[in-house]
Amino acid sequence: MFFDSHCHLSFSGQDYTLDEMILSAQKAAVTRMVTIGAGEGVEGNSEALKIAEKFSHVWAAVGIHPHDAKLVTPEVLEQMRKWFLHPKVVAVGEVGLDFHYLHSPREIQEKVFDDFIDLALEVKKPLVIHDRDADLVTYNHLKVGAQRAVPVLIHCFTGTKELAKKYLDLGCFISFSGIITFKNAQDLRDILTWVPKDRILIETDSPFLAPVPYRGKKNQPAFVVEVARCISQIWNTSLENVAQITTQNANQFFGL
Ligand SMILES: [Zn+2]
Ligand SMILES: [Zn+2]
Repeated sequence: MFFDSHCHLSFSGQDYTLDEMILSAQKAAVTRMVTIGAGEGVEGNSEALKIAEKFSHVWAAVGIHPHDAKLVTPEVLEQMRKWFLHPKVVAVGEVGLDFHYLHSPREIQEKVFDDFIDLALEVKKPLVIHDRDADLVTYNHLKVGAQRAVPVLIHCFTGTKELAKKYLDLGCFISFSGIITFKNAQDLRDILTWVPKDRILIETDSPFLAPVPYRGKKNQPAFVVEVARCISQIWNTSLENVAQITTQNANQFFGL
């Protein structure tokens, strides 16, 4: 049984209907998933929450993607506080920094990131972190803010060996996506050989980042099995063993 720790079931522009994705996941033994509300503004969160209410094995994370940091007002944070009271909301996220696209100015992203770290500490929910091209800045905010008081997950990790070590020292979990199946991702596969097994989660980040052999298609939770398969080859162990370990880690991280 596999746990897709990060998918965007509510996103527009999928190639499959929600029911099709749920059914394929079931056929592939992907029995748990966390759908991320962040990424399509503030309202995307209520769409994610609706899906989590509809399916007993889907939970939601609520937050504002760094792309949308400019949308965050005190009223938005107030709305977030209400959503965090919902029993199917298991994490704050994805939040963080994205200096690659800079859809929101850097200073605003950093301010909003700190707001969400504070909010996570206040509502005592784990943090799902998005980081792109802001590695050490992201790390420094987490180091100051999170103080390991709530569990922290670095989602879709693509950083260096040094950065992975820093996050592990901070007590963070690290999640790997379909990128590890890409031909040019040997550095990432090397990192997987030494990251402690009890700190690793798997994800699709669907509809993005379809793994080999589905590249070119829209991603979906069922494909998280390919991420696990790649890890099983790196660890030289069975697929079942990877499923068991990564599902246990995800349950622990999300408090399920
Ligand atoms: Zn992300
Ligand atoms: Zn995402």
